[in-house]
Amino acid sequence: MRCSVCGRRDAVIYQRHTGRALCRECFIEDIVRRVKQEIERHEMFGERDRVLLALSGGKDSYTLLDVMLRIHDPSRLGIVTIIEGIPGYNREGDIEWVIRRAREHGIDIVVTSYKEEVGYSMEELVNLTIEKGVRVTPCTFCGFLRRRIINKYAREGGYDRVATAHNLDDEAHTALMNLLRGDYARLAQMHPRAPVLSKLFVKKVKPLRKVYEWESAAYAWLTGYGFQETECPYLRLRPSFRARVRAYMYELEREVPGSMLRFLEAIDRLAEPLARAVAKLPELPRCEICGEPTSYNRRVCAFCDLMAKIGAEEYFRRLGTKIPATRT
Ligand SMILES: [Zn+2]
Ligand SMILES: [Zn+2]
Repeated sequence: MRCSVCGRRDAVIYQRHTGRALCRECFIEDIVRRVKQEIERHEMFGERDRVLLALSGGKDSYTLLDVMLRIHDPSRLGIVTIIEGIPGYNREGDIEWVIRRAREHGIDIVVTSYKEEVGYSMEELVNLTIEKGVRVTPCTFCGFLRRRIINKYAREGGYDRVATAHNLDDEAHTALMNLLRGDYARLAQMHPRAPVLSKLFVKKVKPLRKVYEWESAAYAWLTGYGFQETECPYLRLRPSFRARVRAYMYELEREVPGSMLRFLEAIDRLAEPLARAVAKLPELPRCEICGEPTSYNRRVCAFCDLMAKIGAEEYFRRLGTKIPATRT
């Protein structure tokens, strides 16, 4: 079958949501064009902006780096990669290509770990929660730590933006979850136009947010990603609500191709006034212990609170303090 766009080369990809069959070149061009369009539509960053890419080493991060190298000045890019410290999930291969590609293009890169940053590897954190009988999933720690560490390097490195490799599927699922929970604050906050609520936060952008997960995977393979992606062993402990929302949206997408894309586009439009209203909110207070921004009603941030509950002495020692009493 010939490519629906150029009509010259053999098609290698069938894009269900557009009904087109595309050759390798036209598919790559289509993805790059759509990412660029999304960046421009929401003014995610300008050509002079320094962008820190948060890369896990997986397929989506391969795609993000490849697209960014085609559309942004490499001397204005940086990379941060974080090692969680989970047994059987060291992701050496994933991290190796990130370091190699960074060197090839002369991009500044930081490789760090939970252990280096807070004194505990993921395995040690999980062991503490079991010891203390605290009921949190490992994903909770990743949620806190990834954000915190990435933001720290962006702020200290003087970057204008942080770019993550979240794809359309991630965004559509999160949007539907927020909608079903009636969490309009989160819905507003995840909009690409939402401003940050603290001077200490570097604005996050998601250039791949209109690219389907399967497209991002296909793009990675077609541009040289040849690695076996390791799956996080804690994945099965992930909250089940997300898993169900995921399964439901895939079912809809199968029946009505393009529905996930149109859903996110509708949310973008409807949530835009909410996102702009975020700018009127006051600056977030800072945690009395770690100094990072925290919610309006808190003096100690949720992360310090959790670390106190699990008795993470080393974390507090590094901050020059003792474990505070926790709220129950
Ligand atoms: Zn073509
Ligand atoms: Zn704190």
